[in-house]
Amino acid sequence: MRFSGLRVLKEGLTGNRGWTAHWRDPEPKPAYDILIIGGGGHGLATAYYLAQVHGLRNVAVLEKGYLGGGNIGRNTTIVRANYGLPGNSEFYSHSLSLWEGLEQELNFNVMQSQRGVLNLFHSDGQRDAYVRRGNAMVNQGDDAILLDRDGLRKRVPYLDFDNGRFPVQGALYHPRGGTARHDAVAWGFARGADSRGIDLIQNCEVTGIDVANGAVTGVQTSRGAIRAKKVGIVVAGRSSQVAAMAGMRLPIESHVLQAFVTEGLKPVIDTVVTYGMGHFYISQSDKGGLVFGGDIDMYASYAARGNLPAVEHVMEAGMALMPMIGKARVLRSWGGIMDMSPDGSPIIDKTGIDGLYLNCGWCYGGFKAVPGSGDCFAHLLATGRPHPAAARFRLDRFRTGVGIMDEEGTGAQHNLH
Ligand SMILES: Cc1cc2nc3c(=O)[nH]c(=O)nc-3n(C[C@H](O)[C@H](O)[C@H](O)COP(=O)(O)OP(=O)(O)OC[C@H]3O[C@@H](n4cnc5c(N)ncnc54)[C@H](O)[C@@H]3O)c2cc1C
Repeated sequence: MRFSGLRVLKEGLTGNRGWTAHWRDPEPKPAYDILIIGGGGHGLATAYYLAQVHGLRNVAVLEKGYLGGGNIGRNTTIVRANYGLPGNSEFYSHSLSLWEGLEQELNFNVMQSQRGVLNLFHSDGQRDAYVRRGNAMVNQGDDAILLDRDGLRKRVPYLDFDNGRFPVQGALYHPRGGTARHDAVAWGFARGADSRGIDLIQNCEVTGIDVANGAVTGVQTSRGAIRAKKVGIVVAGRSSQVAAMAGMRLPIESHVLQAFVTEGLKPVIDTVVTYGMGHFYISQSDKGGLVFGGDIDMYASYAARGNLPAVEHVMEAGMALMPMIGKARVLRSWGGIMDMSPDGSPIIDKTGIDGLYLNCGWCYGGFKAVPGSGDCFAHLLATGRPHPAAARFRLDRFRTGVGIMDEEGTGAQHNLH
């Protein structure tokens, strides 16, 4: 079933009776060439690119809940390519270029909106760091503009520039950044993978990984054993637990990240504003809700829900920066489980077990990575070689110390964050 304006018109005039389900509900087969554990954004995108780019169809995605019920449906939808370090810079640039053709490629409206992203700075030192980052972005072929205080005031006059907490000096502006509808991205990739013959199996929890003679042979699931030549682990906040099923201890800690949405308002914020010093960022959804969040809860947890100290911290930061939002009523808050790596950068690599592959460590920034991660992980699974855009996302960097990508300068070990 293809979407088009004509089709929407026809269905609208005929009672919307012609729409069909976007994907099948298949029973698991006894064996596949490749199994993907995790039906989030990254798992579904991997499945799609395995079929679309590499022509591999004897593939299944195993999801313990429903497709898109994890972080892919819980994030604040920001898409950007404003990373500074070699390794990250080329990867996120690659991912953004895939985003820009995604709706046409998937024939699905993911509501991508390149409304720009503003990273605020509050001191000379922070400005210099953003100049360096902006130069790295431009060298990579992406866009970055440094705005001084007056330039920024024209763009977002409603900020409290002289707030007592962190007075605002300017911003690094990334015009091609923006937002996209998170659920639609999951649905679009699921539909694309299913229509190319990939089995998407929901309510199928992986409970064990079978290894014999140093090679993976399949998995145990809540719906029985399934054999496979290759298995990819793409389970975000559950990465450590699933990898432990194969006897691996990952350099990953799981932390909760919360977010909030207000009642629908008329258009008021037409870009994405991030206020890193205060731990606050905000955009406005197409339905009018102000969507905002802050930093992770600073202790490890698997609780996919919020707590009051973080609520208070985020609200205070928002009010310090943008007092006008105090009039909006918050409708909902929620949490997702982040797979935090020590250097804040991801892992896409083989493991020490033949045929077992790993994709994790996306921290709180993996939504923007979905197309790039799917493309690069599919490349690794299909060819056994890293994709050039993800060549530095090696697992062994935490053992050797070589190739660490400490993007935020927070330190390459968990307890330094
Ligand atoms: C509040 C919040 C705000 C965020 N904001 C942004 C943002 O603005 N921009 C951005 O780029 N990123 C953002 N992120 C991060 C981003 O959402 C994640 O990095 C990304 O979605 C993780 O990849 P995923 O989509 O594959 O994860 P998920 O959707 O979590 O997929 C993993 C799947 O694995 C499944 N699974 C787990 N264990 C098993 C098992 N044993 N067997 C079978 N299946 C299993 C889970 O059920 C889940 O569906 C945010 C996250 C949160 C929570």
